[in-house]
Amino acid sequence: MKPATRVCLISLVLYSCLAGPWHFAHANSRRQAAGAEPEYTIRAIRYATIHDFPFSELVIGAAGDKKVDIAMIIWLIQGGGHTILFDSGFHRFKSLDEYHIADYLSPDEAVKLAGADPAAVTDVIISHAHWDHLDGIDLFPKAVIWIQKGEFEYYTGATWQVGGQSDGIYPEDAIELVRRNTLGQLRLVNGDDAPILPGIRAYVGSRHTYASQYIRVAGNPPFVLASDNCYLYENLRQHRASATFEPSDEAGNIAQQARMISLAGAVERVVPGHDPEEFVRFPTTGRIARIK
Ligand SMILES: [Zn+2]
Repeated sequence: MKPATRVCLISLVLYSCLAGPWHFAHANSRRQAAGAEPEYTIRAIRYATIHDFPFSELVIGAAGDKKVDIAMIIWLIQGGGHTILFDSGFHRFKSLDEYHIADYLSPDEAVKLAGADPAAVTDVIISHAHWDHLDGIDLFPKAVIWIQKGEFEYYTGATWQVGGQSDGIYPEDAIELVRRNTLGQLRLVNGDDAPILPGIRAYVGSRHTYASQYIRVAGNPPFVLASDNCYLYENLRQHRASATFEPSDEAGNIAQQARMISLAGAVERVVPGHDPEEFVRFPTTGRIARIK
């Protein structure tokens, strides 16, 4: 080895020993300062129950006429200075009997049970425009609403034209979406694998509605919150679709469920939209399950 080479190698080793760790620590603090991927906490909040829902409408193609009691859930995600809701629940209904609703608590009251102030919710990410997921946005007046561009455009436009699909959509909610947009309080999420906040990305293709989305929350470990793109753990077990926008979307929905598992890194870290088992699998106090 030539002396010059030896000097070079010694310098390299010294640099690695001294500057390397400094570099690493510095890069880490820089990353944190930039707000990159906080270690979020995730809570499932059960704000109501709907009794006697036909199982075959949740797990498409499943045999039998079994009925199930489904959990009505919003998810609270906190970290990096953000208090985020994934979906907002509902509060407009003619009567609790209309949908066999029990144990109802208004979503803004329900988040208080998880220690969050509804007025301090910074962001509401909407999975899809159905009444039981979108209707609560006006209960969180300071929040920025995140919704897929296609979902916003369809349910504030074509859905109300002849031939549009308006089942499960409240006109008041479409108007509130437009109102929030005019106030600068709405962000359109553009398509698949789209960033929302540091460590939180949105995915499409399940087509529960026109352009429904689900999210991956990065962290150690990561989780996928599916909302109604996967109603129940049973969809994952049986590889059967949730209800889809068109029957021809079923195969795509099943493919997206497989993708959810790979994005989460494990099937048990895919969190379905209406499964009461969430409040058994994860440590639960009252209405709150601590997913992470
Ligand atoms: Zn739902």
